[in-house]
Amino acid sequence: MSAIPFLNFEPMHKLIRSEIMQSFQDVYDANWFVMGKKLEAFEKEYAAFNNTNYSIGVSNGLDALHLALKALNVTKGDEVIVPSNTYIATALAASYVGATPVFVEPDPNTYNINPANIEAAITSKTKVIMPVHLYGQACDMDAIMAIAKKHNLFVVEDNAQAHGATFNGKITGSFGNANGTSFYPGKNLGALGDAGAVTTNDESIAKKIAMLRNYGSEKKYHNEEIGFNMRLDEVQAGFLSVKLKHLNEWTKQRKEIAKQYNEALKNVGDLVLPAVHANATHVYHLYVIKTKNRDGLQKHLSENGIGTLIHYPIPPHLQKAYQSLGFKKGSFPIAEELADNCLSLPIWPGMTLDQVNTVAENIKKAFK
Ligand SMILES: *Cc1c(COP(=O)(O)O)cnc(C)c1O
Repeated sequence: MSAIPFLNFEPMHKLIRSEIMQSFQDVYDANWFVMGKKLEAFEKEYAAFNNTNYSIGVSNGLDALHLALKALNVTKGDEVIVPSNTYIATALAASYVGATPVFVEPDPNTYNINPANIEAAITSKTKVIMPVHLYGQACDMDAIMAIAKKHNLFVVEDNAQAHGATFNGKITGSFGNANGTSFYPGKNLGALGDAGAVTTNDESIAKKIAMLRNYGSEKKYHNEEIGFNMRLDEVQAGFLSVKLKHLNEWTKQRKEIAKQYNEALKNVGDLVLPAVHANATHVYHLYVIKTKNRDGLQKHLSENGIGTLIHYPIPPHLQKAYQSLGFKKGSFPIAEELADNCLSLPIWPGMTLDQVNTVAENIKKAFK
């Protein structure tokens, strides 16, 4: 039995080992650790990759979303539309600025926020729509941008899972007024620790984010606002520059693995495989399947040395942290059905065809 973990960094990290060590050495020898040349370089490179005028490196993805909302002056009493099926960070960012997250159900096929449900959730207090390109697939951004324009709302994309995905040829993280992304190690572009960025085309928003992440100060010891320490350090910025150069190749590999899963798992039991919107691309941060026998399948795979995870077992509206919002089981049935039935299979750049086949064979056995 050859164990297959859910995620394995080794093939990626073996390939870039000497570049990473060189980058670390650069910082070590420069004796400059925060707000320096590595950060400046990475911000330029990531803005170019993301086709935005600006990218501002920050401490992590949650802080990126928080800063984006803060820079748009979203505040107490405002409402922020978020998907009911997402990682809790999306909703937390709204809570951090004192706003209320308003959950909207996903499209039952793509699992991304369903634009058809957004307008019904808009009130006089709504300020922002916050789509999440979940699992790596771009949301229907044409529809979302049209709704935002019609109702005069901001858009803040949560692009933590979808570096490089596109809708109608336009890259995620370049649609909204200010967009947050995460470079948590397991993300498609991952640091070797916590990191994130805000992307925007708006110069004044970019300036504001750059100031807010650094104690509300543009000039050292002159504080314009009550800011934060949410900076991205030189060591991580350098590592991210190294990894960014390989991202397109690694995305290609993720897509290839997904294609292999799609072929191998066609017509197996009641399995539902990932569905991609005709105008969207999917960068497969996660390869998520659905089955009524999810727990049994996960147990079977685990007994055969195959790691899987559930994204996410409890939707935000049923978390204890949000019990004050007053939701209960049944409030958002599509998100709840996903939480009960979805399973994320192993996927990482460098995963071999043999490994994909082993996972698929074990799944087929579980359905026999
Ligand atoms: C990872 C993630 C975040 C938060 O990123 P961190 O860097 O862990 O703070 C936010 N939203 C989504 C959808 C994520 O997957």
